[in-house]
Amino acid sequence: MVLQDLGRRINAAVSDLTRSNSLDEKAFDDMLKEICAALLSADVNVRLVQSLRKSIKTTVHFSSLPPAVNKKRMIQKAVFDHLVALVNPHAEPFRPKKGRSNVIMMVGLQGAGKTTTCTKLARHYQMRGLRTALVCADTFRAGAFDQLKQNAIKAKIPYYGSLTQTDPVVVAADGVAQFKKERFDVIIVDTSGRHKQEADLFEEMTQIQTAVNPNQTILVLDSTIGQAAEVQSSAFKATADFGAIIITKTDGHAAGGGAISAVAATHTPIIFLGTGEHMMDLERFEPKAFVQKLLGMGDIAGLVEHVQAITQDSASIKETYKHITAGIYTLRDFRENISSIMKMGPLSKLSGMIPGLSNMTAGLDDEDGSLKLRRMIYLFDSMTAAELDSDGKIFVDQPSRIVRVACGSGTSVREVEDLLSQHRMMAGMAKKVGGQRKQMQRAQNML
Ligand code: GDP
Repeated sequence: MVLQDLGRRINAAVSDLTRSNSLDEKAFDDMLKEICAALLSADVNVRLVQSLRKSIKTTVHFSSLPPAVNKKRMIQKAVFDHLVALVNPHAEPFRPKKGRSNVIMMVGLQGAGKTTTCTKLARHYQMRGLRTALVCADTFRAGAFDQLKQNAIKAKIPYYGSLTQTDPVVVAADGVAQFKKERFDVIIVDTSGRHKQEADLFEEMTQIQTAVNPNQTILVLDSTIGQAAEVQSSAFKATADFGAIIITKTDGHAAGGGAISAVAATHTPIIFLGTGEHMMDLERFEPKAFVQKLLGMGDIAGLVEHVQAITQDSASIKETYKHITAGIYTLRDFRENISSIMKMGPLSKLSGMIPGLSNMTAGLDDEDGSLKLRRMIYLFDSMTAAELDSDGKIFVDQPSRIVRVACGSGTSVREVEDLLSQHRMMAGMAKKVGGQRKQMQRAQNML
C-alpha cells in the first residue's frame, strides 16, 4: 500500500540526513520538507503536516543546539516521537472483559467494510477465549444478513438476524437481549450504512444506540476515501460518538494517510486495520508499533502476537521467536513455521509474513501451495531430532542423510536439497533480523 511508500520516503529522508557529512540547518530543513511532502502525498491533512513540521523544528531547535550534542540521534528521536504523536489519540482503546456482556456496535457508510469487519473482529475476540456472537441489524442493504450469516457460519460464530423484521432497532434489541441472556462475552452489532452521511442513517444509529446501549461504538472507515475521512468521521462523531476506529482496505492502493489522520480530528484511537478480504486480515493498531513498522523497524511483537493467537501453540512459537531474535533458525524452527502457516489460512495472504516463503509458493494456487507445504512437513518428519535441531550443515557434511530423508518421506533427493537451500536462505535472514533486533533495542534504549 502507499503507506509503505510513505515509510520508505521518510526513512530515506532521515537516513540521508544522518549519513551526510555536513549536518547543517539547511540539510535539516530539507529533510523536514521531504517528510512533509511524503505525508501530504499520502493524504495526511495539511494542517497536521504543518503542525508536525513546526513541532519537530521547535523540539530540535537546530540553531541553538550545543556542539557536543548528538544531533543525528536527537533528530531521529524527534521524527519518531512526532510521527507517533500524529497517530496517538491519547485515549485508551476499549478492551472487552470476560464474564460480562460487552456490546459493540459498528457504524459506518455502506461499503466501508462493516459486515466483513464484524466477523473479523468476532473471530479476533473468539480466538482470545471470549464467547462472541454477531447481530445483523442491517435491514437496509439487501443481502447484508445473508453475508453476515455466511461469514459467521464459516467462522463458527453464533449469529442473530431476521429475514422478516424490517425495523433494525427491533432486530438489534432482540439479538442483543438473546445473547445477553445466553451470557456471551462479546456481542457485535452490525448496523446499516448509507451511501453518504444522511439524516436517516444518523437517526437510525441513534435509535439503535439507545436500544442496545453499547459499551463501545466503532466507526469503520474505508482508507480509500482519502481526505474525506476527516469530514466523515467528524459527522459520525457528532451523532454516534464512537470510541474507536477501524480502518479498512489498507491493503489497497489508497494513500491511507487521510483515514489515519482522522484519528487526530476525532481524538479517537484506531484499534485495528483491515488488511484484506479474508477473515483473518485484521491487524492490531498500536501507534508506536505502527510507526516502527512504517519506518521499516519491523513489528516482530505484533507478528508473534498474531501467530500465537491463531495457532494457540504458544510454546513452540515462543521458542522460534526467541531463536529468531537471537539470530538462530534451525530446521525445527522452519518446520514449526510451516505447520503454523498451514493452520492459519490462505497461503497467498500469509506467505509474505515469513521471509522467503512467497518465493517457494510463487505461481501456485492455494491448493497446490498447501500440497507443497505438506510435502515439506513429510520431509521434516523423516529427519532425526539432531538433524531438526541443527543449522542444516550436518547434511552438507554427510550427504547420505539426504538420501535417507528422501526415501523415508517418499519424496526425492531434489526436494530435500531444495528445502535445505531454502532453509539456508531463511537462516541467513534470521541472522540479519537478530542483528537488526539488537540494533533496534540499542536504539530504543537510547530514545
Ligand atoms: P459494508 O457495506 O460496510 O457492510 O461493507 P462490506 O463488509 O460488505 O464490504 C464491502 C467490500 O469491501 C467487500 O467486497 C469486502 O470484501 C471489502 N472489504 C472489507 N474490508 C476489506 C479490507 O480490509 N481489504 C479489502 N481489500 N477489502 C475489504
